[in-house]
Amino acid sequence: MDSKPDPLHVLFFPHLAHGHMIPTIDMARVFARQGVKATILTTQLNAPFFSKTIERERELGFEIDILIIKFPSVEAGLPEGIEIISSITSQEMGFKFFKAVSLLQQPLQQVLQDCRPNCLVADGMFPWATEVASKVGIPRLVFHGTSYFASSVFDSFHRYQPLKDVISDDQPFEVPGIPDKIKMTRRQQPVELRDSGANSEITVLLHKLLEAEISSSGVIMNSFQELEPAYVEHYRKTLGRKSWHIGPLSLCNKNREDKSERGNANVSSIDRVECLRWLDLKKQNSVLYICFGSVSWISAAQLIKIAEGIEASGVDFLWVVRKTNKDEDKEEWLPKGFEERMKGKGFITRGWAPQVLILEHEAIGGFMTHCGWNSTLESITAGVPMVTWPLSNEQFINEKLVTDILRVGVGVGAQEWCRWMEGRKLLVTEENISKAIAEVMVGEEADNIRNRAGALKEMAKGAVEEGGSSHSDLMALLDGLRFNSI
Ligand code: UDP
Repeated sequence: MDSKPDPLHVLFFPHLAHGHMIPTIDMARVFARQGVKATILTTQLNAPFFSKTIERERELGFEIDILIIKFPSVEAGLPEGIEIISSITSQEMGFKFFKAVSLLQQPLQQVLQDCRPNCLVADGMFPWATEVASKVGIPRLVFHGTSYFASSVFDSFHRYQPLKDVISDDQPFEVPGIPDKIKMTRRQQPVELRDSGANSEITVLLHKLLEAEISSSGVIMNSFQELEPAYVEHYRKTLGRKSWHIGPLSLCNKNREDKSERGNANVSSIDRVECLRWLDLKKQNSVLYICFGSVSWISAAQLIKIAEGIEASGVDFLWVVRKTNKDEDKEEWLPKGFEERMKGKGFITRGWAPQVLILEHEAIGGFMTHCGWNSTLESITAGVPMVTWPLSNEQFINEKLVTDILRVGVGVGAQEWCRWMEGRKLLVTEENISKAIAEVMVGEEADNIRNRAGALKEMAKGAVEEGGSSHSDLMALLDGLRFNSI
């Protein structure tokens, strides 16, 4: 009697942050739908984040599971209960968190030895995972959760060190060795890179990340060919890196429940329904959605400027406000009488918004975003033009892709990279904010931007359909894993 061969087993190990766990569960589902046995490795307190989705997938007959490892909070000097980046409240806690993450190497090795998957897909933030996988004799794929464009710019910074030759933080320099002429400033780069010598901690870390990527079996990108063709080619041919683009991953969320609970199934459904009902009352393309991701911190002084900018622009808005200091009184971050004046025009929530559903709503005409890669790609996938306001990480680079290359967004003029919990010296003015909103929401140029965004939306959908560029790359990747040719 013929016995069915064992399915390919892939272990996914995401970084402990919403912006990494969200695309990873999508990716695990995309793999499982192709007959792969997918296991997510995470910590006890992060398991509930995945469990509802996994339950639903299992009911549909797909093989997804979860494995728990202990997070060494206490060993790293953290209080118990801190297992996700969004619960960090100080720089010192941040350092300890990263120490705890680095202590996961041995538990990871143990898990790999015990469950013997065919492949490990580990987050780009775990450079040591390549070596751990090789000890166990399996391939390690890297998942960065960023674009080909950003990866190419990082490579350029590392290879050509352009920051060394600029004489001031605000002098624009051209990113060398990439297909487009892109200008940035030193102030838009991580603080540690600005005055760094080659030996600064961040340079050493970036070097390690790059080395681990180069020595891995390849990189999985949440992107698609038609979005950044020149950079797919640059990354693969000029830089010689192996990669597969399989995005936009958010498109695997087809039914309303999946979309509505994405990222935080524990938020009350009343909150979710309320903001969507409010949108139902609005005209097509009339509302600006404002959200700065899952961890960004914006000072009260800047929130006031945002409120003033929105009010001056005259557009309706749905605003998700997230601050780490939960006790701060609302009045301190809203201009006097703002809420009364904006009754009916604006909806403010401090909760977790069903972002994919909001972006898909026909009332949404623009997205003011911090340019985290997931948000950027979700906006592109929904065909929504962006008002770009990068804050940290690689967001200033993502902004350039949106405003200069794809031309589906307008910047508010953010100039200063900051660690996510630090206050900025430079505030963006209400004039700049309202001007960028107007450029994206009203007038002839806004229509041109919307048309370009609409074309990308169609390309995104086509990419994940059977025979599309991302679907084909996924098939090639899975064949490579099945036939051990990766
Ligand atoms: N997100 C959401 N609701 C919120 C805030 C964020 O669904 O209220 C999701 C968003 O759709 C995206 C992710 O959280 O998938 C944020 O990732 P991104 O890379 O944009 O930013 P990060 O949070 O990592 O800075």
